[in-house]
Amino acid sequence: VGGLARCLVAVVLAVALPAHAADLAQGAREVRDRALADTTAWRLVESLTTQVGPRPVWSSPVMARARDWGVAALTRLGFENVHAEPFVTKVWARGAESAEVVAPAPQKLQILGLGASAPTPPGGITAPIAVFPTYQALLDAPVGSLSGKIAVVVQAMPRTQDASGYGALVPARAQGAVEAARRGAVAYLVRSLSTADTRLPHAGYSTPAGIPAAALSPPDAEQLARLAAGGQPVVVHLAMASSVEEAVQRWNVVGEIRGAERPDEVIVVGGHLDSWDMGTGAIDDGAGLAITTAAARLATQGQRPKRTLRVVLWGAEEQEGSGGAFAHPAQRSADQKAAAGKVVVTGEADIGAAPVWRAALPAGSSDTEAMRAFRDAVVPLKVVVPATPPQSGGADISAGTPFVQFAQDATHYFDWHHSADDTLDKIRPDELAQAVAVWAAFLYVTANSDVEFREKAAPAR
Ligand SMILES: [Zn+2]
Repeated sequence: VGGLARCLVAVVLAVALPAHAADLAQGAREVRDRALADTTAWRLVESLTTQVGPRPVWSSPVMARARDWGVAALTRLGFENVHAEPFVTKVWARGAESAEVVAPAPQKLQILGLGASAPTPPGGITAPIAVFPTYQALLDAPVGSLSGKIAVVVQAMPRTQDASGYGALVPARAQGAVEAARRGAVAYLVRSLSTADTRLPHAGYSTPAGIPAAALSPPDAEQLARLAAGGQPVVVHLAMASSVEEAVQRWNVVGEIRGAERPDEVIVVGGHLDSWDMGTGAIDDGAGLAITTAAARLATQGQRPKRTLRVVLWGAEEQEGSGGAFAHPAQRSADQKAAAGKVVVTGEADIGAAPVWRAALPAGSSDTEAMRAFRDAVVPLKVVVPATPPQSGGADISAGTPFVQFAQDATHYFDWHHSADDTLDKIRPDELAQAVAVWAAFLYVTANSDVEFREKAAPAR
């Protein structure tokens, strides 16, 4: 009997599995094509950037409006269990800022204070500058050598598709003030982490160092380098106000599409709702939350998935640097934290609005039926699915869960990122739709299969 039963099971499986695989592959292609023709993501980011505008996390009225926008948007799209999840966080608020060269050639400088920077005294700081061509040159300066000076790092950021030029220079922005203060500096200026040549400075987080820290526009950094090369002392006046609130309430906005067969198995994706203050947070990260929200909707259109899809619009990303939600566990989806064992996979879109060019999957998963269906659906969209797993998934997704990283083309992203030029006109609807199609195909196959990433992934990251 056992032999016969096994034989029958084998016959049934042999027939059933290819049929299911074919269904999954066919479904992924249909979802992809629907997404390519869909404008949901575009309409979301247009609405957010127009009706709410910039979303600096320090503004309570703005973040309440953003929360209400998120709840309304997810509800309108038919998500279930839509709610705002409160958490408490520390926020830094920008005040008035100005900088100018007072000698030898008086002129204004275009600056933007870095997040968590100390303010100057009320009258500002006037001091000679010490210019370093690279961040390493600052690190090589002896302790005490910058006493009474404003340290200036003018290293330019290279343009790359994979954002590695940014990653390499983030320490100059995030740690430069700490290193300058350690060497006696009274303030720190860094060339913006920007690939543009405009006079718009780019903001960003900087570890508190007890001294004021600001980003210079690229042309202003070059101007200071030329002035310093002239040999005369270059004196700069810097005035920066800011304030810190230790504990304010903010919100993640959460919505779900509940699974029909295994609702406790949850796939968590999203982007962040807050932004820097100078632009309207279109590419960072209106695009990312729009991509993942639209993808979850399109992946399940007309058909309830087997597993649950959860979208999270994270409420405070920009001021934690790369620490993000890891540093503030309360910022994570509370449900996700409580049920981490049931989270199938997580993913965050936070690298703009250009097409996905590389989709890195959790280790060991690429040969599963579901991921083969995904790969076949997205290869025609010029997406590389590498054999190696992703190194990181995004600032907001929690440790301990498997994660994907869908890299979007970052070639132009850092022309606008964290600057006044982060606005809706930088987004091309067709490129945004490509990114949605990749995410939607992934969510469709993952939510409608039993693919398991946790057991395949390496235990440690
Ligand atoms: Zn971001």
